[in-house]
Amino acid sequence: MAAAWVRLCALVLIGVSSGAALAKDKTPTAIVVGGGLAGLTAAYELQNKGWQVTLLEAKAGMGGRSGLATSEWIGNAKAQPVLNQYIDRFKLETLPAPEFVRTPGYLIDGEYFSATDLATKQPATAEALKRYEKTLDNLARSIDDPMNPQATSTLFALDQINVSSWLDKLQLPATARQLVNQQIRTRYDEPSRLSLLYFAQQNRVYRGVSDRDLRAARLPGGSPVLAQAFVKQLKTIKTSSPVTAIVQDKDGVTVKVGSVGYQADYLVLAVPLRALAKIQMTPGLDGQHVAALKGTNYGWRDQLMLKFKTPVWESRARMSGEIFSNAGLGMLWIEPALKGGANVVINLSGDNARLLQAFGDKQMVDQVLIRLHAFYPQARGAFTGYEVKRYSVDAGTGGAYLAYGPGQISKYWRLWERPVQRITFAGEHTDALYPGTLEGALRSGQRAASQAQDLLAGKSFDPAKAVPVAAAAAGAAAAKDSKGGFFSNMFGGSSDKADKAPAKPELKQVDEAKQDKPGFFKRLFGGDDKPEVKAEPIAKAEEVVPAVAPVPAPQVAPSAVVKEASAKPAAIKAAPVKHAPAHKPAHKPAEPKKATAKSEPAKKAVVNSQAKAS
Ligand SMILES: Cc1cc2nc3c(=O)[nH]c(=O)nc-3n(C[C@H](O)[C@H](O)[C@H](O)COP(=O)(O)OP(=O)(O)OC[C@H]3O[C@@H](n4cnc5c(N)ncnc54)[C@H](O)[C@@H]3O)c2cc1C
Repeated sequence: MAAAWVRLCALVLIGVSSGAALAKDKTPTAIVVGGGLAGLTAAYELQNKGWQVTLLEAKAGMGGRSGLATSEWIGNAKAQPVLNQYIDRFKLETLPAPEFVRTPGYLIDGEYFSATDLATKQPATAEALKRYEKTLDNLARSIDDPMNPQATSTLFALDQINVSSWLDKLQLPATARQLVNQQIRTRYDEPSRLSLLYFAQQNRVYRGVSDRDLRAARLPGGSPVLAQAFVKQLKTIKTSSPVTAIVQDKDGVTVKVGSVGYQADYLVLAVPLRALAKIQMTPGLDGQHVAALKGTNYGWRDQLMLKFKTPVWESRARMSGEIFSNAGLGMLWIEPALKGGANVVINLSGDNARLLQAFGDKQMVDQVLIRLHAFYPQARGAFTGYEVKRYSVDAGTGGAYLAYGPGQISKYWRLWERPVQRITFAGEHTDALYPGTLEGALRSGQRAASQAQDLLAGKSFDPAKAVPVAAAAAGAAAAKDSKGGFFSNMFGGSSDKADKAPAKPELKQVDEAKQDKPGFFKRLFGGDDKPEVKAEPIAKAEEVVPAVAPVPAPQVAPSAVVKEASAKPAAIKAAPVKHAPAHKPAHKPAEPKKATAKSEPAKKAVVNSQAKAS
């Protein structure tokens, strides 16, 4: 009896020690949710570290958000270092950017001006732009560390102010203000919806990086080519797999796609915030995360590509590159098309994009054509077709990319950089320095992958800490009391008093449009006061944000890939679970769609006084 007992104990011990050895040697597993560049990077980096990775993507195609013009302009290694590293690693071809696209131009009442032209032909506007850039640069310089922009109470106070209030104080002449508004809304969002601290922080990040650095080269095929390069490296990708629920416990993570479950040790969640809000999480996220999911502002930016038989503007060279119009046409990007003719991509951003949700695609194109025709009478005759992309109402993004609104840095700064138990977060919105860019998406994927590795090694991360409300109030009060020219420095004017920041973004334009007041459509399009096609009643901005209108799916070429089994199919309590079938190739990865129109400006540009005002 005693001998049998000893034998049993020995067997148990052998079992335990071999189990421990197995656990130690076991290949760690991860599920990555989201097949945009952030998720692809995380999956690639984890796979390279020896993990078994399954990537789940909701759509039929990989690559996530990418602009209409598929031949994106990219920055050099100074502007976008991580992007350039991957381009080199995957040996992707790039072409140097021609000189004329490297600095922005202006379209003032239909007339094109380069930055140099502006100085001689519109000196008042050029001077005002210079003053704006200088004041903005002073503001950016006041931030020592862009990773910690709210370091002092005075800086903290900037988060309570919106960019529009700051611009009002500068008292720019009308044309200069229109151009500045256009530039800000194209790169971020409507100035009234943007935190001044976020705007200053971004300009701090890009301080010393010129427009020329930001548009240094062209990536033929655009970011979908980069996405495909990642796809080729990954072993297990399941497309058309929208994740609906995530359950974590002490042993691992279970992810539900319809009635199929997947299990792994860790999870990287690389979906935009509005998409994340739709995933049921167990245990649920805390109040701060839930508030961030609902409240974090995304900039709106929709794109129309108008195609013409021949260029209807003066000359190709002069009308190429990033062009900011004062007339509400948005930011234009005009280029010869590959097969002859010329394309103009119009970026409708900020409240212009919000308001135009009331229009169908064709109505929207008509409105733009009418205004273009007013400047260029040949426009309608030469017009051959259009493409439209509306990111703003895509339920998966609810906007183009993150753009912190007033008060949001105070509440949510770097919140998504901290893992929640076994989940690490990726996506452009989780990158503190380069949100809203390819660079930010790639960096976030790298960070999330290395955090998963840290978690595996037993490292713990501080739980997210909410900023006490009192701190925000104290910050604002301190800023109000602040003496010694901080606010005059900030506003470039004489007042040292902080503006009362409107608690809510201004909806002036929306209200005007609702009432169809004269002036609104003139400002929007630079032509007649009223749209020629009667719009449906316009919803309030708050109502528009949750995004309901049906939108065409992004036109990244379908590239469903299922290569081999990785994450374990799991049983899910809530619903009966079908075991995931062994992963067999379902579709071959498609080649990225051939570019038709070839341009996409680098979005974030530093406000560079030399570039614009010399
Ligand atoms: C109009 C426009 C112009 C831009 N221009 C530039 C530029 O010039 N330069 C630049 O650097 N950046 C630019 N950007 C920004 C850049 O494209 C993005 O920052 C980047 O593509 C974001 O990648 P991501 O992986 O974070 O998100 P995404 O690409 O959005 O990837 C998220 C993925 O998650 C998937 N998903 C969502 N929900 C689920 C779910 N429940 N289950 C599974 N999958 C899910 C989505 O389908 C998507 O594929 C631009 C963006 C837009 C919209």
